[in-house]
Amino acid sequence: MNQYYRPTRAEINLDALQNNIQELRKNLNNSTKTLASVKANGYGHGVIEMSKAAIKYGVDYLGVAFLDEALQLRRAGINAPILVLGYVAPQYIKLAMEHDVSIAFFAEEQLVAAASLPQLKNKLKIHIKIDTGMGRLGIAAFENIVQFIERALATPQIEVEGIFTHYSKADEADKAYTEQQYNKFERIVTYVRAQNWNIPIIHAANSAASIDTPAWSGDMARLGIAIYGLYPSHEVNKQAVNLQPVLTLKTEVVHVKAMHEQSGISYGAHHIAKQQEWVGTIPIGYADGFSRMLSGKVEVLIAGERVKVIGNICMDQCMIDLEPVRHMFNCIDDILHQEVVIIGQQGEHMITMEEIADKLGTINYEVATMLASRIPREYKENGKITVVSNSIL
Ligand SMILES: *Cc1c(COP(=O)(O)O)cnc(C)c1O
Repeated sequence: MNQYYRPTRAEINLDALQNNIQELRKNLNNSTKTLASVKANGYGHGVIEMSKAAIKYGVDYLGVAFLDEALQLRRAGINAPILVLGYVAPQYIKLAMEHDVSIAFFAEEQLVAAASLPQLKNKLKIHIKIDTGMGRLGIAAFENIVQFIERALATPQIEVEGIFTHYSKADEADKAYTEQQYNKFERIVTYVRAQNWNIPIIHAANSAASIDTPAWSGDMARLGIAIYGLYPSHEVNKQAVNLQPVLTLKTEVVHVKAMHEQSGISYGAHHIAKQQEWVGTIPIGYADGFSRMLSGKVEVLIAGERVKVIGNICMDQCMIDLEPVRHMFNCIDDILHQEVVIIGQQGEHMITMEEIADKLGTINYEVATMLASRIPREYKENGKITVVSNSIL
């Protein structure tokens, strides 16, 4: 078990992960497979442990953004099916084949490269990507899609394991565009079935579609943000699945003092202290993913209350206003080592990823993925710490 020596850490509640996977599966058709999207360090939650736990809790597949992320999982001894959702350059598809990593296929150059691979028993597994309206990766025109599938099926080095598409507006209340995307995809699916082509996994849903329009998922739902207990947007039907946030970001007060009147707090001295104002220093900063753009806007929880972060957030530290809680303590030194929650619940209060995202003008996805790898992750199962992971030691 890894150690860490700074009190800042992310607590990862694996029971919540299990709950979220179960909730999502209940909402989907019984026969629908699930892929856990663990790209970007498992949305900041720590990719290895999240992958192992997701497999243990019944997901069928792991999804990553690029080949390096897939190889990281293989190197950690994870032998579950992995799909690279993004681009893999032609010169590296052999590497994918050698590590039994399935990859998204949509480019002529990939087909050409596949045709010159050695012909082995274990073929290159591909999922052909169809662009039905995301406008990112994938083949868009019906004739081109059919032709591409035919050529892939005729390439002996290739096993066409899946075809898939990606919804761009499934998290919005108005489902008209998603329905259009679904219908475009269904036209391909109908054609594939009519040809009797053997393509076992036809998949479309992300978290949002799995929550709001599970019937438009296909054979497999690709579950990302929701397994981490975060809703894809404010507009999805939160009643459909009862998600619990998996991550809590915590630290503690490492220094406290009563300020002299007129003394400045942090770089730029933008906050000027009143006489005897109690201020605490916490060891978390923008290099941990606690963005400097939150300076003057964000709050944290201490002693079950909300208090403000004051002055500019520094690279590794920031300061908090202890005035609202000072009446709870006999003396200033009693505040030293008090727990501070940056994201998560403490007592009656909760600071969500969404609250921080709103303050930054972004979405919960970005807040989660910003959490730096230098923050140790502490994994809890049945309330007990089972693994501590510190990427720098
Ligand atoms: C990241 C990703 C997902 C998961 O999306 P969520 O909104 O997090 O559920 C699904 N499919 C593709 C292609 C992705 O890139």
